[in-house]
Amino acid sequence: MSTDDRSSATPTGATDDGGGDESLVDVRNLQTTFFTDKETIRAIDGIDFTIDPGETVGIVGESGSGKSVTARSLMGLIESPGRVLRGSSIRYRDLDTVRSFADAFSGRTVSVADLESRYDPVRVFDQTAATPAEFGYADPADVPLVDVVAAGYGDEVGLTSGDECVFVLDGDAGDPSSIRRGFVELTRVSGEAQRKMRGGRISMVFQDPLTSLNPVYTVGNQIKESLSLHQGLTGKEATQEAADLLEAVGIPDARRRVNEYPHQFSGGMRQRAVIAMALACEPDVLICDEPTTALDVTIQAQILDLIAEIQETRDVAVMFITHDMGVIADVSDRVNVMYAGEIVESADVEPLFANPKHPYTEGLLNSIPGGQVGGRLATIDGSVPTPNEEPTYCRFAPRCPKAFEECEAVHPIPVPVDETADDHTAACLLYPEDESTEAAIARHRGRSHGGERE
Ligand code: SF4
Repeated sequence: MSTDDRSSATPTGATDDGGGDESLVDVRNLQTTFFTDKETIRAIDGIDFTIDPGETVGIVGESGSGKSVTARSLMGLIESPGRVLRGSSIRYRDLDTVRSFADAFSGRTVSVADLESRYDPVRVFDQTAATPAEFGYADPADVPLVDVVAAGYGDEVGLTSGDECVFVLDGDAGDPSSIRRGFVELTRVSGEAQRKMRGGRISMVFQDPLTSLNPVYTVGNQIKESLSLHQGLTGKEATQEAADLLEAVGIPDARRRVNEYPHQFSGGMRQRAVIAMALACEPDVLICDEPTTALDVTIQAQILDLIAEIQETRDVAVMFITHDMGVIADVSDRVNVMYAGEIVESADVEPLFANPKHPYTEGLLNSIPGGQVGGRLATIDGSVPTPNEEPTYCRFAPRCPKAFEECEAVHPIPVPVDETADDHTAACLLYPEDESTEAAIARHRGRSHGGERE
């Protein structure tokens, strides 16, 4: 939801989780920054997106746009000198997961109603660096307490200890079976909760299968390790399941090959084996980070077909990351276009390809080989800048063929491309296109994602 949308929304009560309860994953104002001696790199700078159950969400952009850091932030794989900043929230809403986490981690589970009885969220804005705008509201009194606490500000004011990661919105936090609504806050999971989430609920397939496979163990043993950890399978049962998984991902003679080592597999087979490992824990979400980039074109097509088949037969939500617009068109239901740490356009796949709005998306589409009038391959001059300062301007401006004076002075935020297009947003001063340029610029001016200040 855009800042504008939340600002104009009628507040629905402090226990409102907003963002659409149907979303399985709800990423809000995600900011991941790397702090080095020389500079601060705002690799992810306040992005919002959702993943619905069974949906394939594409993330596309050039190298350096922040795609992989987004995936690693969801997986809890950001290491020093990087970290996810306060103000960020990644909600995981699967009810079974919320109940089982509330059961397993009762000391880390909180009732939002209980917090509300003890604290007025308006005070947070007096006592911390938080701003209502970063939660999408103009008035501090409208901001639900759960938003403030999930984003980490409750710790600053002593309302929470920093350890809580399960938030119960409806039901008794002490009786997990009674919970009807809630979420696990992925920016706050750690330790055993992190291990259960990573691999158990969300799995990841990396670009290079060799980095995911250990060369000194058989492929079967590596799948069995995952089966043991997440499903408790051992012995013959695990061997059988590992072979079944290899067969399911299209490895011929799987019962024999389960005993082979990674070097005995071809590149395409290795990627299939990695996908089998990722499926071993029966995830709800499969994150695929450029899973076909290291493969030749025919194998790439096979792996894409395999991922589509898995998505359909196992009802897994997929977050698919690539720099390739052609691949994104093939696999995605919805597309988020990233540039320099921000999502600059978001839409369902058909409208995005039929009617791209952001000049960067237009540039990416024009640079697909074969799509040009006259046969000359278009390029986007220049390269993605390193986002190392708070944006006060459009980061695409130096490369944008449509740039005008205000683009250097106003930071565009995602807004609907026109008033009928709730599901199609662009972070560009030219939008909403049914408003005058002055009115559109006024919408963008002065808005900030906010969050922790380094
Ligand atoms: S805000 Fe300006 S520079 Fe940025 S994409 Fe839009 S027109 Fe181009």
